Amino acid sequence: MSYQHKYIDGTNIHFPLGKVVCIGRNYAEHAKELNNPVPTEPLLFIKPGSCVVGLEGGFAIPTERGSVHYEAEIAVLIGKPLSNNPNREEVLDAISGFAPALDLTLRDKQAELKSQGLPWEIAKSFDGAAVIAPFVVSSTYPDVTDIGIRLTINGEVRQDGNSALMLNPIIPMIQHMAGCFSLQAGDVILTGTPAGVGPLNVGDELVLELAGGTRFESVVR
Ligand code: ZN
Repeated sequence: MSYQHKYIDGTNIHFPLGKVVCIGRNYAEHAKELNNPVPTEPLLFIKPGSCVVGLEGGFAIPTERGSVHYEAEIAVLIGKPLSNNPNREEVLDAISGFAPALDLTLRDKQAELKSQGLPWEIAKSFDGAAVIAPFVVSSTYPDVTDIGIRLTINGEVRQDGNSALMLNPIIPMIQHMAGCFSLQAGDVILTGTPAGVGPLNVGDELVLELAGGTRFESVVR
């Protein structure tokens, strides 16, 4: 089933799915839990559109490839092109929506690649590696420095963060990204994960929510 950007009322968003631009180690507590130094410059990586799947109705994980970690993240949908160091207003104007999402990671593979100083794509860009819920319109969160994200697995809260805790807040982060490469309508930004990451197992029941905006249930198939 091919992925299509949607709003929570089920209406399609008529931007083609683009790339997924991610930031690593954007919450100090998460960097610490994986024994990673806090970067002095934002650590960016890109997942191709081919790895995106919807959250609703459950999603599959490649269990034969080692430990698959969840990373709950606030996803930002870009609705207008951004490039060449846009200003704050241009970035705010280009944000079309927010959604909770999972940046899935083959943690064993990533550790192996990291130890050899190699790129992370094999661990981060497999089919199904970006799980994105339907979006709420951007006006749901007039203050982007106060968006709560929470992941509950089998009834237990595993991750509970807020964009207030980001080392690179959403607007400066997107300004920096758009200074590195062009962003297009339909691209998605994954804004980093708070502490509490861990492995997923088939059958896990998930609740993924943005505080005050959207709440989704899903299951690992
Ligand atoms: Zn992540």
